[in-house]
Amino acid sequence: MTTTNSVGNGNEYTRAGDGMPGNADRNTGAGDGAVRVLGGGARRSRGGPAEIAIVGGGLGGLTLARVLAVHGITATVYDQESGPGARSQGGMLDIHEESGQRALRAAGLLQEFQRIVLPGGDATIVRDRHGTLLHADDGGNGRPEVDRGQLRELLLDSLPPGSIRWGAKASAVRERSDGRREVVFADGSTVTADLVVGADGAWSKVRPLVSAATPDYLGVTFVEIDLVEADARHPAAAAVVGRGSLFALGDGKGLLAHRETDGSLHVYAALPVPVDWAGGVDFTDRVAVQDAVLAHFAGWSDDLRALVAEADGPLLPRPLYGLPAGHRWPRVPGVTLLGDAAHLMSPFAGEGANNAMLDGAELGEALAAHRGDVEVALAGYEGSMFPRSAEAAAGSAQGMTMCLASDAPAGLVAMFGEAA
Ligand SMILES: Cc1cc2nc3c(=O)[nH]c(=O)nc-3n(C[C@H](O)[C@H](O)[C@H](O)COP(=O)(O)OP(=O)(O)OC[C@H]3O[C@@H](n4cnc5c(N)ncnc54)[C@H](O)[C@@H]3O)c2cc1C
Repeated sequence: MTTTNSVGNGNEYTRAGDGMPGNADRNTGAGDGAVRVLGGGARRSRGGPAEIAIVGGGLGGLTLARVLAVHGITATVYDQESGPGARSQGGMLDIHEESGQRALRAAGLLQEFQRIVLPGGDATIVRDRHGTLLHADDGGNGRPEVDRGQLRELLLDSLPPGSIRWGAKASAVRERSDGRREVVFADGSTVTADLVVGADGAWSKVRPLVSAATPDYLGVTFVEIDLVEADARHPAAAAVVGRGSLFALGDGKGLLAHRETDGSLHVYAALPVPVDWAGGVDFTDRVAVQDAVLAHFAGWSDDLRALVAEADGPLLPRPLYGLPAGHRWPRVPGVTLLGDAAHLMSPFAGEGANNAMLDGAELGEALAAHRGDVEVALAGYEGSMFPRSAEAAAGSAQGMTMCLASDAPAGLVAMFGEAA
């Protein structure tokens, strides 16, 4: 992977005498061309650059770190995971021209991104519960598909060495008497920053600083399923999915599947069940889970049921949660949110990761454009992010209602027909 470091000299986690990461050391006299970002008035009088702590190294937080680095601004990402390969990232993502790709352009990574696109992966098929084909297209709509893990790797590899501190699980963020912020980690350690960005997803520990909102269960639980070496080992299931994505919908539920770069199929069985449904199923017993899921698809075609019946490896429950569409907060000095922490939404419009990346890019650009005043940058970022994410969240909610309607997939087929 390409590494195009604009900053970073390897001493990025030197602790200063006050127990803070030594950002001032990093940007002073290092001869690395780094440009200082000044904080508010108090920060500027200290003469050092604003220290930026990004809590969460998902696609949103990493995009922010990368765009800041492109502009010569240093930041540290703190992630709870033990390392970059700690868990499988799962699934394909369609990266939208107007959001995800725009963010990658700002990050200077659009060309590298084109190299990891799955050719033909944006083809879409829609079927009803009998497996009847109701829509098929070859994609080409400016939303190419990439493997989420590869995209994250691309961003990780683009950061200055040492930009990320792994195994750093934030448990709270506090305001200090000097107006700065202190991130408290689960192991008891702390870091202090002028700006804390909550990029820590659905259950953000930064969000309580700006908002009392918490995610609500959306009434749908996904069960994630993998079928490996699909063409050779699961030909009927592979054929029903096609080259890209499948939406098989009906009776208020669905089987959503897509082909992965390694030739496997990744399936989401979308079930309208109570939030505690998964707790009543023994997910350590694969056959028991398959039976519990297949019970929801009685009467569906055998080829579609094969997407569950032929599962390889464990099946994983994923209850869907969302923040209220249009979630926003009054400006709070020295802290903001991006991505799911700010606007968790259902995945039915494929907007969450795209908006998280665009948030990261726009926030990075705003901080670069207003180096002397973090608050002006944050106000500008939030002023544009709030309406954009509200629209995306409303579209995602509509997409879920349409896909899980009793007459589905009629609405989806009509939507594709109108778009053609
Ligand atoms: C089943 C499913 C399918 C989806 N499909 C799509 C799709 O096709 N297209 C699309 O655009 N979106 C999709 N989404 C939505 C997308 O996954 C999210 O919107 C996106 O991942 C949000 O990125 P993020 O960086 O804000 O948060 P996350 O990806 O959740 O990353 C948060 C990061 O913060 C870290 N973290 C969490 N808590 C802490 C803590 N306390 N301290 C330190 N670190 C912490 C985590 O380890 C993680 O690395 C889907 C979602 C689901 C559930």
